[in-house]
Amino acid sequence: MFDQLGWLLVPVVAASGWWWARRNLPAARDSGVGWDARYFEGLNYLLNEEQDKAVEVFIKMLEVNRDTVEIHLALGHLFRRRGEVDRAIRLHQNLAARPYLNAPQRDHATFELAQDYLSAGLLDHAEKLFLELKNSRYCSAQALGCLVDVYEREREWSAAITFARQWERASGERRRVLIAQHLCELACEARASGNIDEALRYARQALRENKISVRASLLLGELETSRGEHDRAVKAYLRIEKQNSGFIGEAIEPLVACWTALNDEERAHRYLMHLYERYGSYQALLAITRFFEQRHGEAQVRQMLVERLRAQPSVMGMQRLVELLMRHENVVNEDLSLVKQLLERLAEESITYVCSHCGFGGKMLFWQCPGCRQWDSVQPRWAFQTAKGV
Ligand SMILES: [Zn+2]
Repeated sequence: MFDQLGWLLVPVVAASGWWWARRNLPAARDSGVGWDARYFEGLNYLLNEEQDKAVEVFIKMLEVNRDTVEIHLALGHLFRRRGEVDRAIRLHQNLAARPYLNAPQRDHATFELAQDYLSAGLLDHAEKLFLELKNSRYCSAQALGCLVDVYEREREWSAAITFARQWERASGERRRVLIAQHLCELACEARASGNIDEALRYARQALRENKISVRASLLLGELETSRGEHDRAVKAYLRIEKQNSGFIGEAIEPLVACWTALNDEERAHRYLMHLYERYGSYQALLAITRFFEQRHGEAQVRQMLVERLRAQPSVMGMQRLVELLMRHENVVNEDLSLVKQLLERLAEESITYVCSHCGFGGKMLFWQCPGCRQWDSVQPRWAFQTAKGV
């Protein structure tokens, strides 16, 4: 245990050096030999790589009293960061139970303990402590932020919104993206239980909260479509281009379906051509070759695809090209189907969505990144490719 603690204490000691100096030098002046002397003794052992002796010195110094509270907090924090949550919990419980802590110290220790519980997945324990701290003079905003995290994990979206609003007030920062996503979650729950009107209300509220919420627009589009309001659905889907053009691909198929239902294929065609010409959108091109092949004629459609493939190779594009070729080149049909199969496998394996925050990649669109828990950071990969001009 001492070996472990030895190297573990190095950063704590280094980080807390300023604190020791600040706290204990005056004390040392008063009493002759103070904490700082023992601190430098320990540091000396460390520098001479006599870790066991160093740890002995530090452990003695670490009896909890008012002066060592902060170094205990630093140590507990370190335990948690290293994944030793049990140790962190024991240390912080021990610390928070001390009668002589002042108010900021007690709140800080309780806050650390609550974070240990959160790391350990003991959500109800964490929730209870954060609720105690939400009106603290010292860590109210942080506690409210953590409460939002707790309720997100518990999927209690109404509670998450309530505390996100309080968090906004306490921190003076808006949390529009977060709250809009919580409202979208409520909309999805309402839709799942068959309550379309309530789902619509939540989705509209989400859009008011965050005007560039792509998710709210997609939801509104789906909800309006489901009750036959295709005009309204089109309006919702069209908003996405202005919100974040990287996401237009998500709306192409439902848009074409809406315009088809409205007998307005002309508008569908115009819009797809616009997306293709303006953004070089593959999804738009593929939709054109699929839905408007007759209008353009097969030769032209194939030509468009080949041009686009030369500029930017894509598995999806090649798959479509092979499909077109297979209709006529009977001689090599067998080979082409093999190529198509391989391409299909490639397409299946390829990463479609990427988190711009942590780089997490996957085949599914997550509104909250499973990697870093950031909201709205996962984007369709082709958005990045087009932006970089690759
Ligand atoms: Zn991420």
